[in-house]
Amino acid sequence: MDSEQILKLYDWDDGICFRHRGRDEVPTTLVWTVRPAAGGIKDVRACEECVLIMEDTRRRAAERMGTNYEPGHVAETSQ
Ligand SMILES: [Zn+2]
Repeated sequence: MDSEQILKLYDWDDGICFRHRGRDEVPTTLVWTVRPAAGGIKDVRACEECVLIMEDTRRRAAERMGTNYEPGHVAETSQ
């Protein structure tokens, strides 16, 4: 599966990437939500570049552990 196919597995909306806070709004996807000590819920969003890095990390981890890698589930494993 190539990068474009992986990115199509996610829903994209303009926002600020959690690793690129200095940048303007770019297409981002919701990767997880955090509950800050101060209360409330905060959305954590990642840009295409970061999602692909996370997918690559997951793929290598799956290979190491001999498990199946299935793209599209960054949100479930990155907490
Ligand atoms: Zn990013």
